[in-house]
Amino acid sequence: MKKPTTFKAKLKIVEEFCKGCDYCIEFCPVDALKRSERPNLRGVCPPKLKDEGTCIACGLCERICPDLAICLER
Ligand code: SF4
Ligand code: SF4
Repeated sequence: MKKPTTFKAKLKIVEEFCKGCDYCIEFCPVDALKRSERPNLRGVCPPKLKDEGTCIACGLCERICPDLAICLER
């Protein structure tokens, strides 16, 4: 069953910016992210959403990413 969300925002991941530190995956409060299967040009697999309905659009991953690879389109 999908968790309810308070508002909708689209998570945009700029895959080529990602260096694979995994901060976003580790600190997401609802465990919404996982590594994708395809490596980027830096040789790391960037994160992706496990399920669109799980993200609560808290913005933590956007703020925590050191390489500005994630933004929320509100
Ligand atoms: S925090 Fe940023 S650089 Fe680190 S894995 Fe996530 S998207 Fe990639
Ligand atoms: S916006 Fe919040 S809930 Fe959604 S993936 Fe990022 S850290 Fe997780």
